[in-house]
Amino acid sequence: MFNKIFALLFCFLLTACATSPTGRSQFIYMPDAQMNQMGLQAFDNLKTEKPVSKDRRYIRFVNCIAQAITRETGGDWEVVVFADDSLNAFALPGNKIGVHTGLIKLVDNQDQLAAVIGHEVAHVISRHSNERMSQKTALNQGVALVAAVSNPTSALGQLAISSLGIGAQYGIILPFSRTHESEADILGLDFMAKAGFDPRQSINLWQKMAQASKGQQPAEFMSTHPSHDTRISDLSAHMPTALEYYKQAQASNKRPRCTK
Ligand SMILES: [Zn+2]
Repeated sequence: MFNKIFALLFCFLLTACATSPTGRSQFIYMPDAQMNQMGLQAFDNLKTEKPVSKDRRYIRFVNCIAQAITRETGGDWEVVVFADDSLNAFALPGNKIGVHTGLIKLVDNQDQLAAVIGHEVAHVISRHSNERMSQKTALNQGVALVAAVSNPTSALGQLAISSLGIGAQYGIILPFSRTHESEADILGLDFMAKAGFDPRQSINLWQKMAQASKGQQPAEFMSTHPSHDTRISDLSAHMPTALEYYKQAQASNKRPRCTK
């Protein structure tokens, strides 16, 4: 309750109110330029710290899917495939997408990977990292946060990295809230369907993910993107809308054929 009053007060004082793509009101005060810089810095760090895959088929497969989806959202996006057997994918402010080879191996088809990429891109489009950071930092920390991204052992660095949603890579877990997960699920479903991917495959994907995370393979993704028991029913409830988008996409000849 107090948080709400506090947020509302801030809204009036600082015009820190925003509206997410699904119409939810958000408390956001980090400048987008700083968030983008943070995403860029974090992505650069990951590219030097982690092996980047040279597998041409995988790179082509992931780019084919990411391009189709980001054509719907707009903007220029950089896509990198990381040679890492864990099940993970992420997207960062500043339009960066990372996909691990472990996840590419797991999916049965383009539509399942499109479900994950759509979900990740939806987190970015909905400015969830900004919202997370706005809830947890003081106003004057913006510039310091950008610098802190490169120092994952500092308290501020941990906050920045975990708010960006890549904390699992450094052993710091900050799961997205249920609200953010639901929003990314629904919006991600729309993105994939509008790009011409079969939205029904999203349900198979989430079931596969949940199953895999019970087994041997480290499923970083599920630690930062927790599954909740209403995920499948939420997706099913939204499926008629998504299928309508899917039909329209097909009618306008958006039929991606991405193969690995
Ligand atoms: Zn998520």
